[in-house]
Amino acid sequence: MENDYDAVIVGAGTGGLSAGIALKQAGKSYIILDRKKEIGLPVRSTGAVSLEWVKRIGMPTDDSIIASKIFAMKFQTDRGRSISLSFDKPVGLVYDFTKYEKYLSKDFAGKLNIKMETQVISVDGNTVKTASEEYHGKNIVMASGPQSTFGQKLDRNNVLVAYEETRELPRRDDFQMILWFSDMAPGGYFWDFADSDSTRKIGVCYYPLNGEQPKNVLEKFTSKFPEVDGKMLHTMAHQIPLSRPSDKVVDGNRLFVGDMVNAVLNTTAGGLQGAFWTGKYAGEAISRGDLDIYQQGWNAEIRPWLMKHHNLHRRMHKNGAKSIGNLMLFAKMMPKSMKKKVFGGL
Ligand SMILES: Cc1cc2nc3c(=O)[nH]c(=O)nc-3n(C[C@H](O)[C@H](O)[C@H](O)COP(=O)(O)OP(=O)(O)OC[C@H]3O[C@@H](n4cnc5c(N)ncnc54)[C@H](O)[C@@H]3O)c2cc1C
Repeated sequence: MENDYDAVIVGAGTGGLSAGIALKQAGKSYIILDRKKEIGLPVRSTGAVSLEWVKRIGMPTDDSIIASKIFAMKFQTDRGRSISLSFDKPVGLVYDFTKYEKYLSKDFAGKLNIKMETQVISVDGNTVKTASEEYHGKNIVMASGPQSTFGQKLDRNNVLVAYEETRELPRRDDFQMILWFSDMAPGGYFWDFADSDSTRKIGVCYYPLNGEQPKNVLEKFTSKFPEVDGKMLHTMAHQIPLSRPSDKVVDGNRLFVGDMVNAVLNTTAGGLQGAFWTGKYAGEAISRGDLDIYQQGWNAEIRPWLMKHHNLHRRMHKNGAKSIGNLMLFAKMMPKSMKKKVFGGL
């Protein structure tokens, strides 16, 4: 029947696209529905990922979608503690986010079956309704992101606001990634990531405890550092769930992926890897006709990885920038090889 699929996927972000890729590769019928106009826009993420994890879970590394590679990084507190690391080979990538999502949608496994400008208004059993049509899926992949009404309600005490400005600034040769921990950004940090030769991504994420606008918080902090004080070209803002990873990721014929199940590394607030990995697992479980494969994989592999970051984040931020400074002191005492292993593999 028309509009009948093995799977209907709600959301064409990283999680939904990754599920679509797995289904396409297995020769299953699927459709991805998204309300936005264009894949990869608006920009949703800085795009920084760990190269080790990208390779481990099979994310793309094509040069055409990479804005910069991370060889050297610095972590510092505004109380004067810092730790710097440099590597012979890149340990991280910063995707050009729009090119990266477009690549997933058409180059990674061939062109995916995606319908844009299609807002899903309800999901009931096998039926997914939009304003004008109905779609039927034996399975439904829920990949509609953190603010979606189809997911669990966001726990307001465990959501970071994240705000980034692409600023006109020259490329730095010393560090491609700088993170500042400060009590001005509780639970999060300020960042400076390499972008193009003439731009850098300057941002902040934090628990919005005092209600101050992120733009003001970023402005106040960066005005202290002339090297990040450049002309703003464009901005991006969103929420990042920073809770414990969910227990249940499969409910009947529905498989929840990405930010919907808090698949975000709490230490770095990075969710692209979790979204890709959960989407891939969900797509493969559907293809093999056994949804439990996804729940089991979540329990055995994905959730423990996320929990490690969740627990470390709690330790890091126990007493704000002070406890991070103490952890930095501890990290400084590690042998060089261990330091590289720990920071390179995050
Ligand atoms: C400022 C900022 C910087 C970040 N930087 C990084 C980083 O450097 N590295 C990293 O790993 N992570 C980063 N993240 C986190 C990362 O971007 C997210 O974790 C990731 O994008 C989540 O992917 P997702 O597929 O779960 O959801 P999303 O990417 O949010 O995709 C959800 C999709 O669902 C669609 N949708 C929602 N509701 C409906 C509906 N009713 N009908 C149809 N479509 C719908 C939306 O349009 C959207 O396209 C950052 C986040 C922010 C906010």
